[in-house]
Amino acid sequence: MALEEEKEIIFRSKLPDIYIPNHLPLHCYCFENLSEYGSRTCLINAPTGTHYTYSDVQLTSRRVASGLHNLGVQQGDVIMILLPNSPEFVFSFLAASYLGAIATAANPFFTAAEIGKQVKASNAKLLITQACYYQKVKALLKVESEDDDVINNNNNNKKKKKKVVLVDSLSNVDDDDDDDDVEVHYFSSVSEGDENEVGEVKIEGDDVVALPYSSGTTGLPKGVMLTHKGLVSSIAQQVDGENPNLYYTCDDVILCVLPLFHIYSLNSVLLCGLRAKSTILLMPKFEINAFLTLVHKHRVTVAPVVPPIVLAIAKSPDLQNYDLSSIRILKSGGAPLGKELEHTVRAKFPNAILGQGYGMTEAGPVLTMSLAFAKEAVNVKAGACGTVVRNAEMKIVDPETGHSLPRNQSGEICIRGHQIMKGYLNDREATERTIDKEGWLHTGDIGYIDEDDELFIVDRLKELIKYKGFQVAPAELEALLLSHPKISDAAVVPMKDEAAGEVPVAFVVRSNGYTDLTEDQIKQFISKQVVFYKRINQVFFIDAIPKSPSGKILRKDLRAKLAAPLPN
Ligand code: AMP
Repeated sequence: MALEEEKEIIFRSKLPDIYIPNHLPLHCYCFENLSEYGSRTCLINAPTGTHYTYSDVQLTSRRVASGLHNLGVQQGDVIMILLPNSPEFVFSFLAASYLGAIATAANPFFTAAEIGKQVKASNAKLLITQACYYQKVKALLKVESEDDDVINNNNNNKKKKKKVVLVDSLSNVDDDDDDDDVEVHYFSSVSEGDENEVGEVKIEGDDVVALPYSSGTTGLPKGVMLTHKGLVSSIAQQVDGENPNLYYTCDDVILCVLPLFHIYSLNSVLLCGLRAKSTILLMPKFEINAFLTLVHKHRVTVAPVVPPIVLAIAKSPDLQNYDLSSIRILKSGGAPLGKELEHTVRAKFPNAILGQGYGMTEAGPVLTMSLAFAKEAVNVKAGACGTVVRNAEMKIVDPETGHSLPRNQSGEICIRGHQIMKGYLNDREATERTIDKEGWLHTGDIGYIDEDDELFIVDRLKELIKYKGFQVAPAELEALLLSHPKISDAAVVPMKDEAAGEVPVAFVVRSNGYTDLTEDQIKQFISKQVVFYKRINQVFFIDAIPKSPSGKILRKDLRAKLAAPLPN
């Protein structure tokens, strides 16, 4: 009995494990047996209507790889992609893979300071962006060059220039100067490289290929090292196998509206789509009527979305003006989906499967997905996030005792498998806090698994705030608040919001004597420094931030305060 109690309770997929060719570099895996399907449509760029076949995409990516190589990008170097969803994003990412380089993508709406932090932390050698972001990029590179020349060429001239590749022309931007700090190149010439020049780069499975940024369970955003082997494993867990009903097929048209700079879209939309030989329809920005028009016009069959898009669909008064009958899968992920909303949308799409996937950047990212995507006649239970992916193990752990829990008991969700991150870049301590000695990745999410192996997420143990699926790290906002001379202490927590899911709100302690500091001043101070979704929604002034004896902010207490009406 005692022995029995010590045995770990581990959950696996109901589907059988599969063979995963994770010895292949990511690009080889995505384009395996290309000659059999090279002429199929791979990408459609929605704004222009341009189609690219699988052969086009593979060839252009190899040419871009060679063009980047000629600009000095070497195996192991990091390049930053600062682009909306576009063919150039896809080519740049795949080019990095061909080169054995690493792509770190960031939200183009980030402020110069936010991008600058990621450029510096990742040591990016080159940045690929659009002309409209050029001034912002130039500003951040100036600061960088004053600091420590993080983006530079190898030529040791007196002044090191930073390399920026623009995907469009600078003509409508006020390019004031012969800039001394930045060397501008154009994607049109970079993509004219000789596709055979780079040749076969020797890539190991453990080599990093993608470096998304995530705050994980605590602290500031960190570089999440995703390897070739990890991503190939994760993609295979979703779309490989013999089952003809499996998730994506070569007949699917997948709408890629979620931003490719987030791993959910990069992995579960783009890379899974490539592996499945589907057609991927690239949409740079969500707007409900444009979304519905694209579904109607291109007969979209799969729409991976986040809860705020599900909400926009549910609330749209125009649904009946579009033929949406082509949709067979509506997959929600990235943040919790309310049960009522789930019911409403299910009623509006009776012929489609509305199911959830659950991901976390560090987990590669997919932990669970609805079995209904893979099997016929599976009823999706409201609130269920699906079952653990194949070739992986999941357990639910009591956060107090560390013991694994049986079905229907809530605890921290942990996952193990080849798909999880290699670790955080240059942060061993955070890596060891997240992946334990037995290889279990601790998610910081609380949930339980029911008698049908379905996972239900009930709470979040970690600090993270999710605004429409975007990460907001409280520690980042707290550091900014504490840099204000009139603030002596601060804590940021999530507050429920119908449209965004959650918004960040701040508890602030004014420094002695500064009773004149107002909510508006604080909001403005922050909004100048961060992307729109990290803006503080409300400020509550308090006398002291509740803390544990070791100085940890008692976030639960603050969240509880939000549940009760607060005087301000
Ligand atoms: P990210 O690393 O940005 O993908 O954020 C991961 C976090 O988003 C997870 O750890 C969860 O807290 C949350 N999340 C993702 N998918 C879901 C889901 N289907 N339901 C509830 N929360 C989710």
